[in-house]
Amino acid sequence: PYVPPKTWRMAAEGTDENGYAKLTSNELAFGPLPEAEAAVRDVLPRANRYPDSHVLRLREVVAEANPGIGTQNVLVGNGSSEVIFNALQLLPSGGEIVYPWPSFSLYPTISAVLGMKARPVELAEGSELDEEALLAAVTEKTRAVILCNPNNPSGTYLPLGRVRKLAGELPEDVMLIVDEAYVEFVDDPGYRTSHELALEHENVLLARTFSKAHGLAGLRVGYGLASEKIADYAERVRFPVSVNLAAQVAAVASMQAREKVMERARFVISERERLRRAFSGAGVASIPSQGNFIMVKFPAADFERSGVLVREGEALGYPGWSRVTVGSEGENDRVVAALSGVGGAAS
Ligand code: PLP
Repeated sequence: PYVPPKTWRMAAEGTDENGYAKLTSNELAFGPLPEAEAAVRDVLPRANRYPDSHVLRLREVVAEANPGIGTQNVLVGNGSSEVIFNALQLLPSGGEIVYPWPSFSLYPTISAVLGMKARPVELAEGSELDEEALLAAVTEKTRAVILCNPNNPSGTYLPLGRVRKLAGELPEDVMLIVDEAYVEFVDDPGYRTSHELALEHENVLLARTFSKAHGLAGLRVGYGLASEKIADYAERVRFPVSVNLAAQVAAVASMQAREKVMERARFVISERERLRRAFSGAGVASIPSQGNFIMVKFPAADFERSGVLVREGEALGYPGWSRVTVGSEGENDRVVAALSGVGGAAS
C-alpha cells in the first residue's frame, strides 16, 4: 500500500478531541502543503493591510494552469460556494433552478436565499447523472442548471460528451454551472473536465475549490472559469475583499505546487479503492465513487459506535446509508474495523 511521506502533516491521525475519526465533510486528511503554510506565515506581518481586492495573482496562476483561460475568464470567491452564489445572483429572480438530486445541499439553500424555486431531478438508475432528464425539466422559467460533476454524494459522473450535449441544448439564457469540487480525485479515464465548455459557451461556468484536494477548507477560497461576460459581472457583485490575504497566498502557493497536490489526490484514490474492496469483502453495498468519499449501505449510528463519524445518509437521500469521507490510512483502518463492529472512540 502507498505510504504518505512523513512531511504530509496529518490532522492528528484524524481524530477529534473525543477520539472520533471525523469523516463527515469530505475534507482532506492532511494539512495544507508546507509551501502554502510558509506563504501564510510570510504575509501575516502584512495583515494590517487589505488584501488585493482583484485577487490578481491567484487569477493569473489559475489561468496559467488552465489552457486557453485568461485572467479575464477567472472569478474567485470565499470558497466555491461564493462563486456559485455570485453567479446565480446575476440571474433574474423568481425563476427556477434545476439540478440532479441527491446532490450538494448548498444548491437548494442558495435557491431559497435568492428567491428561486428549486427543481430537483432524480438521479437515474444506479445513482447516475442524466442530461436528458435535466433537459426535460427545463422550462421557460428555468434560470440555471447546476451539475455537480463528479456528483456529491453519489460519486458518479457525466462524461464530457454528455455535458457538452447539455450545454449545447440549453437555451442561451439558462446558465449551466458545472461544479467540479472533486475533479482532482477522478481516475476514471472516461471522465474529462468541462473546462473547454466554459470557453465555448457564454452561459457555462465551471466552479472549483481549494477546500478539497488542496486541503484549504478552513481558509475559504475557490474559483470559477467562465466567459469574460459572466466572470466580469460575477466579480462586480462580489464583496470586494471576500478572499482574505492568507487564503490568497496559500491558494497561489498550493496551485504552484499542484504536482504535490495531485500526489495526495492519488493517495486518496488508492485508499478509496481499499475501502471499496473492504466494503465488498464484507458484503456491504457501496456506489463506485470518483470523489474523496463513498456512499455505503451501512448505518451512520453503527460507524459512530465504532468511533467513526460519517454523514448520515437519510438527509442525503439514501436512508440507511452513510457517506464516508476517505481519510488518512489510520482513519480508513477504523472504517474497515467498524464493518465488523470492532473499535470505538479512543479512551
Ligand atoms: N461543491 C461541492 C459539490 C461540495 O461538496 C463542496 C464541499 O463540500 C463544495 C463545493 C465546497 O465548497 P467550498 O469551496 O465553498 O468550501
